[in-house]
Amino acid sequence: MSEPIPTRSVTQKTKPRNQSITADICILGAGISGVTAALVAARLGKKVVLADGAPAIGGQAIGSIIGTIIGLYSHGPNAYQLTHGIADEIIDDLTAEDSILRLQGSTVNFQYNEVRLARWMERKLEEAGVHTLVGAVLTDVSFSKRRIQHIDFVTRYGGLRVEAAGYIDASGDATLSYESGLEVREPVEPVWGSMNFLIEDYDEVAVKELDMPSVRQRLAEVGAKYGLVRHDGWLMPFADQGFMLANINHMQTPLDPFGAAQMVFEGRRQTDNVIAFLRAEFPAIFANAKVRVYGNPGIRQTRWIASDRQLTLADIRSTHRPKDAIARCAWWVELHDTAEVVYWEQFPDDHVYFIPLSCMIPAGSDNLLAAGRCVDADTQALSAIRVMGPCIAMGTAAAHAMHLAGTGAVRDVDNAQLQQVLSDNLDRTD
Ligand SMILES: Cc1cc2nc3c(=O)[nH]c(=O)nc-3n(C[C@H](O)[C@H](O)[C@H](O)COP(=O)(O)OP(=O)(O)OC[C@H]3O[C@@H](n4cnc5c(N)ncnc54)[C@H](O)[C@@H]3O)c2cc1C
Repeated sequence: MSEPIPTRSVTQKTKPRNQSITADICILGAGISGVTAALVAARLGKKVVLADGAPAIGGQAIGSIIGTIIGLYSHGPNAYQLTHGIADEIIDDLTAEDSILRLQGSTVNFQYNEVRLARWMERKLEEAGVHTLVGAVLTDVSFSKRRIQHIDFVTRYGGLRVEAAGYIDASGDATLSYESGLEVREPVEPVWGSMNFLIEDYDEVAVKELDMPSVRQRLAEVGAKYGLVRHDGWLMPFADQGFMLANINHMQTPLDPFGAAQMVFEGRRQTDNVIAFLRAEFPAIFANAKVRVYGNPGIRQTRWIASDRQLTLADIRSTHRPKDAIARCAWWVELHDTAEVVYWEQFPDDHVYFIPLSCMIPAGSDNLLAAGRCVDADTQALSAIRVMGPCIAMGTAAAHAMHLAGTGAVRDVDNAQLQQVLSDNLDRTD
């Protein structure tokens, strides 16, 4: 083609006015919690806006290559699935396309292909008619009379205002609640994050002998020589697919603009150092290993809502079912409170505890709910319920609670009515 291809000149005449949209429910954050809430709410007939600041949906489940869904089953020889609905659909559909592995241990976890899960989410959101925004960063919240009136976003292509009857804060960092001027909580001592990554070009025969206790022991002995701080973690080969998932470093996850960039650099530096460590210390398997993909920084616990009823370590040690229970969980306390190792508190087999709706309601608000890793729990309890199984359950509950609340106050929702629609996630033991 040698002819010039025509172009046209344009000049901005006036500053573009913000667009606006009204909805029944607006959800901030398209991670596993927000996507679940959006799908469930849209299928209930609600007009849903789902907004995320990242250029693609999926939150940490996709962008940070979390790689396994945990917290979905109870523990022990009689382990059963605790959360159904969207979780069943993900497992069934990804199993059909050979993109998820069932890992049977003391509980059942699922190792998934994040590229396939991302496409699954996108397809399902489109089918459900969710109005999805990507690259939309929250800039302002109008909050009065205990209600969010509207929220503003900026995108590369102009601003947008969303006005909804109800809002779900699935931002992971309680951003919606914080920007509403509501009280939020932050840990005094930081909880460490990780940059997950994929490794390729390792020896696929020798990797069958990969012994994680030896890797961990060596990390403790010589990791510092490679600039590594963490002594535990996981390397999980995706059987016969030529790559493995690594969750094996630790970095701080501060809530400030330059700190966010430092997280990326520090995570990648440590990732490169892990590869250098593996090549030198375990050459039979890793002599030629390389990073295939660096995940986005994985952020565990930064900032979360303050409710009238915080879920505590004592609550999750007990199996007491609160009157406003909306989900179950059995995952152990998994607190990343030191650079070196994770603190675990294991529960006995068959130990199942409950998550109440009240720990998802920010104090002082009527049309706002949190879902996912920014609900109100003490630091230990949050370290157990922030994983993806309970995130799916909380997203489901948030959608149903908002549906029942309509234009009223979400704290006035009838518990029995809500629990009836959530019975699979509260009562099934098959
Ligand atoms: C390294 C690591 C490993 C983990 N391993 C596992 C595991 O193996 N299995 C498991 O089940 N769980 C695991 N977890 C926990 C789990 O991944 C997360 O807790 C869970 O994914 C949280 O989902 P979420 O939807 O609540 O939040 P997120 O996935 O964090 O989603 C929040 C979304 O909100 C958006 N957002 C935030 N602020 C704004 C704003 N101001 N404007 C617009 N958008 C905004 C973000 O872009 C993001 O997409 C791990 C976590 C980490 C960090």
